[in-house]
Amino acid sequence: MTRTQRAYVETYGCQMNISDGELMAGILEARGYAIADRPEDADVILVNTCAIREHAEQRVLGRVAQLKGLKTERPDLVLGVTGCMAQRMGDDLARKAPYVDLVMGPDGYRRLPDVLDRLRDGGEAEAVPPALATVASPGSRKRGPQLTVLDLDTGENYQGLEQRRTSEVAAWVPIQRGCDHRCTFCIVPYVRGPEKNRDPHEILAEVAGIAAGGVSEVTLLGQTVNSYVAGEWSFARLLEAVARVPGIRRVRFTSPHPNDLTPELVEVMAREPAVCEQLHLPAQSGNDRTLKRMVRRYTVDSFLEKVEMARRAIPDLALSTDIIVGFPGETDDEFRDTLDLMRTVRFDDAFTYKYSLRDGTPATRLPEGDFIPDAVAQARLEELIDVARGIQAEINAGEVGRVEEVLVEKGARDPGHVLGRTRRNKVVAFPGDLSWVGSYRTVVLTSTTGATFAGERITAHEAVEVGG
Ligand code: SF4
Repeated sequence: MTRTQRAYVETYGCQMNISDGELMAGILEARGYAIADRPEDADVILVNTCAIREHAEQRVLGRVAQLKGLKTERPDLVLGVTGCMAQRMGDDLARKAPYVDLVMGPDGYRRLPDVLDRLRDGGEAEAVPPALATVASPGSRKRGPQLTVLDLDTGENYQGLEQRRTSEVAAWVPIQRGCDHRCTFCIVPYVRGPEKNRDPHEILAEVAGIAAGGVSEVTLLGQTVNSYVAGEWSFARLLEAVARVPGIRRVRFTSPHPNDLTPELVEVMAREPAVCEQLHLPAQSGNDRTLKRMVRRYTVDSFLEKVEMARRAIPDLALSTDIIVGFPGETDDEFRDTLDLMRTVRFDDAFTYKYSLRDGTPATRLPEGDFIPDAVAQARLEELIDVARGIQAEINAGEVGRVEEVLVEKGARDPGHVLGRTRRNKVVAFPGDLSWVGSYRTVVLTSTTGATFAGERITAHEAVEVGG
């Protein structure tokens, strides 16, 4: 009898990639693999990578080189690199790291078990469906060739496959892959291909299964999640249907594109009790010329109109955003416009980045003189962070005393305390028991560090008094 093969998936990067890691684990488990918790216990190690920033790629290369050590003791071990960086670097990665057995982009996962079988059998690359094997070169492994699987598949949305979810608290549900935009700083369309949307009925069945398993919070996931469309189904219709699945108490979604924030969608967000009062709306810049050079396809005014529309419909809405500073050609005045946008909108939270050049993106073709010296970009980033944190601290200080429903996620750093999130996605630590993980507690916010809160649980009786 052959021993059960064990696979270990180590994921870097965004939530979409984490979700892909769960997808790969699910695909392998369905084909009889056991999922290992440590690379040392695995027969197959997959490093699932991110290509958004150079820094992330360097980190991954270092990690892969470290894992190579395990192959010295166990030559049968299969070491694979998957995800966006695998897609971006492709053959180059295969050449630079000849000890890697498999390089696979985000559209190849459905056939992952077959490709692993080929590798294990020492099969020649021709044995892999031709569309899969773009390079087959003798590798350092004793069993067979090194394979790279890099085709972008315009139809692959992983319909019919289920993830192996590990959280007992909240579930991420990918509803879309790829992106039809071409923001000039972004590598995503080139490593994940065009937008592909899943069947709404399959999504709803999956959400019903998640709820039946006792998980009541779901986040719908897509690169431009609100551009989702499948036949008669708009994103607004899908969101409404997901919010009405019995057992689902909280629904979030990320990341929407501002242009697809329609009145219909905002109306569903305001009307459906399960849809959380939270919106992550990436602005990227507060200057029209920069937005145009980024090809974001909106202006500062039209972004502000979307914010106003959402806040009019949902007055208690918590808003967060993404901002890039130091985009090529950004002048100091243009950067100041971004600070103005921050002060005008007053986001509850902001994810801030310094522009980082990615090979293969349109921004690489901008004139060399446009590129901002790192010291300047760094200074802008620090100023932006100061402004964003100051605004966040003011907003949160004004929320001390509020009574919130908190979904407990895990133990907090302080013993005897737990950590959870409010509907508005604010993090709260409060005295509690680990047995509360996955359940809801009513909590009064007693203080804030600026970014997160401390709280005290209150009983139903006290809640009426505080609320009344
Ligand atoms: S909308 Fe722009 S930033 Fe977002 S994934 Fe698509 S190309 Fe990248």
